[in-house]
Amino acid sequence: MFAKAMQSAHHPILAQIIPIRRCNLACTYCNEFDNFSPPVPTPVMLRRIDRLAELGTTIITLSGGEPTLHPDLDTIIRRIRDHGAIATIITNGYLLTRDRILRLNRAGLDYLQISIDNVEPDETSKKSLKVLDRKLEWLAKHAEFGVTINSVLGSGVRNPEDAIQVAEHARRRGFTSTVGILHDHHGQLQPLEPSHQRVYQHILRFAGSLFSFAHFDEFQQNISRGLANDWHCRAGGRFLYVCEDGLVHYCSQQRGHPGLALEDYSLADLKREAERTKGCAPLCTISCVHQTAMLDSFRENPSATLAGILARRRDRDPSFRPPALVGILSWMFLEPKRRGLFGRFALRALGVKPGPTSPR
Ligand code: SF4
Ligand code: SF4
Repeated sequence: MFAKAMQSAHHPILAQIIPIRRCNLACTYCNEFDNFSPPVPTPVMLRRIDRLAELGTTIITLSGGEPTLHPDLDTIIRRIRDHGAIATIITNGYLLTRDRILRLNRAGLDYLQISIDNVEPDETSKKSLKVLDRKLEWLAKHAEFGVTINSVLGSGVRNPEDAIQVAEHARRRGFTSTVGILHDHHGQLQPLEPSHQRVYQHILRFAGSLFSFAHFDEFQQNISRGLANDWHCRAGGRFLYVCEDGLVHYCSQQRGHPGLALEDYSLADLKREAERTKGCAPLCTISCVHQTAMLDSFRENPSATLAGILARRRDRDPSFRPPALVGILSWMFLEPKRRGLFGRFALRALGVKPGPTSPR
């Protein structure tokens, strides 16, 4: 995914697609579900996956609603893998059984993300550690795919300390943990209260992967403090959200823009929408779109992007040791002796022209 993102600026890095809008839960903060929609017919879903593959999409994420309610989920995942794309799913986990996990293994799923909102279920959300721990046990035992547990902070979350318990529990089970910040119904930031900020800073220390490392470093640090981010959102180009009606939107919170049919979505659409300035960008909390922007920022100016991330992190924590991929990239691009020769060679191998004026 990383190498492909470096090679071209005109394919989607990540597409979220909805196989069913219905959900078996009703979290009070959520505006992405209903309780009646039928599954998208399987042949229609397969055609949409084929179209995303034609556009060169690297990662295809099945979201919802609750995607495990789709009767042909395995067939859809298999189709994503047949195209060589990375298949991921975001689920509330309620319908996972040992057999369901084994079928996801056989279908070739790459990653699964479960959101766990609290330790005990409450009126806001039933996605609690108490209810889901049995599922986590099965996942730890049987899953051949990566598992990420996401916890949330923000208004509506009664006990922010629960997020620490969820993150620590996830790591004890051998999973990756992340934390998200609840947004309003336009994807916009609602600043964190001090008690939530403290928890957020605590969980930040768990960040281990390149994505979570860079993501936490810049965007989420500002967001947790209620500050705007200065960035360019490339949704509609590098990130696509395909709804149950087969229309392409910027993201789950900006539906209707551009609202074009996926079957007709073209390279010109990808380029135009990636370039377009979005007024919602400064206070946006949609982390997966931030992550695609981070890749483009590295693509356009690898040395400065990497040096900036590392400097900010070491300012806060002088004993900080970067995760493995960041360490390798620093060795390639930042060590004075290698920077010239090896950095130029690596960039050429990845299809990137060195220097701050590299084309997108
Ligand atoms: S489980 Fe997910 S899709 Fe369903 S209501 Fe809760 S947040 Fe929304
Ligand atoms: S900035 Fe981009 S990702 Fe964020 S809400 Fe706006 S369109 Fe969606």
